[in-house]
Amino acid sequence: MFQAAKQTSKIQRHDKDDETLHVENGSTSYRLSLYDQPPLYDVTVEEFETSALDRLRILAEIESSAARNRTMEETKQMTIIQCGKYLPLNSNSASGVDIQAERRKDQLGHFVLRLAFCRSAELRRRFVKAEGTLFRIRYETDDSKERAAFLSSKDFNWISVDADEKEKYEAQLSHFVSNKTDPNAFKNETFYKVRWSTIPDLVEKRKVFLKGGFAYVPGREQASIIYAAFEERLEAALLATSRAIPLVDEETRLNPILDNLAQGFTAGVPSDWVGSGETTGEGITADMVDSLAKQHFPLCMRVLHQNLRKDHHMKHFGRLHYGLFLKVLGLSIDEAIAFWRKSFAGGPGADKFDKEYRYNIRHSFGLEGRRMNYPAKNCLQLHTAHEAGCPYRQLENSPENLQSALLSSYSAQGLTVDDLPEIMSQVRKKAYHVACTRVFEITHPRQVRKGDGLGDGESVTHPNQYAAKSIELEKEAKEPKMEVDN
Ligand code: SF4
Repeated sequence: MFQAAKQTSKIQRHDKDDETLHVENGSTSYRLSLYDQPPLYDVTVEEFETSALDRLRILAEIESSAARNRTMEETKQMTIIQCGKYLPLNSNSASGVDIQAERRKDQLGHFVLRLAFCRSAELRRRFVKAEGTLFRIRYETDDSKERAAFLSSKDFNWISVDADEKEKYEAQLSHFVSNKTDPNAFKNETFYKVRWSTIPDLVEKRKVFLKGGFAYVPGREQASIIYAAFEERLEAALLATSRAIPLVDEETRLNPILDNLAQGFTAGVPSDWVGSGETTGEGITADMVDSLAKQHFPLCMRVLHQNLRKDHHMKHFGRLHYGLFLKVLGLSIDEAIAFWRKSFAGGPGADKFDKEYRYNIRHSFGLEGRRMNYPAKNCLQLHTAHEAGCPYRQLENSPENLQSALLSSYSAQGLTVDDLPEIMSQVRKKAYHVACTRVFEITHPRQVRKGDGLGDGESVTHPNQYAAKSIELEKEAKEPKMEVDN
């Protein structure tokens, strides 16, 4: 699909509604796009993946916003901040930024995600909804001149209602004029005609006049026509892509990436917070783990830690998930061996330690076997793990057990019985990471407000992200405040 384009190709045609007019090696003239044409240039596999993952963060947060009952205005503010971090897209008037690189990434990420999310009706529906919201937010925040130029370059299949027709239907159309006290309001109002079936929202809310298969739409509702057109075109394009997907299936290198992206979206969690096995914090020692677990670990890792302390033993997947988490948290190989040896002391696996477990620990640090520095498991992987995975997911059918695990793990940090209904309602919606994010907010009340998540509205996507943020907040709270001289 993303085949090589001739680097020298110049686009000279100026047909209306033809995005090739605006695309030259991935560049576009406008910040807004209907994504009419796929990118025609070479991309590296890394670029292919990162552009999609960064876009997926935004779309997943938009979906989480609905689960967290954010208003449209709150969703908009959160999306603007997240886009600033992961998917900036500036207007032509911006200076000091590589606008074409931003647009290329925007376009590429959109088309990669189309490949991942065209595969089922449910994925298509959710993708269209999240992309539609992103488009709407960008439309509302776009530079007004640039937006007008974008609109005039496109054909949205609307017909301007001329003066004669306006007069003919004055009795009906005048109901839709906003300022009824202004005697010139009707004269100054612009109306467009579109096929009524393309704007079901406006029809349902009775915001238009219907006649002869057309809806007569007042000018102030113009944006609704555009949003509907965006979603309608995207739906059709996804369907067409799903029919062509067997061609892509032959490209085996891309399939694991596309599968991973689709899985991440299904779980509402982009899957790459920590992509490597590198440590994210300062070094920690074996002796610090107990106190860190009590204050900073998400539920999955707290449960593993508590079980380890209780049983002096842990099965393979528990050791794997918890060991990698501690490694990324900053436990060195020597400290890890000390931690695990002490944890198993007196337990059923103590005599196996030097023969078996020591090797496994060294293996996870890349010091044995294939010598790979394995990354810690992210939420998506823990949601789908059969053992030692995400407790919100694994205990969803035992709500009493989950609630008592929450209370025993977090009551010292302020979580009470009154908080449980809200958390459990997210679990019932299968929004496990939203439940976990809410617990983070409740247990860090001095630093984060409801809706802030891990900062800027971001949801939990990785246990190490949760722990690192919690440690960071504690450090900030302890740092002496700088005195500002007036
Ligand atoms: Fe752990 Fe993620 Fe589940 Fe939270 S949502 S408990 S961090 S797997």
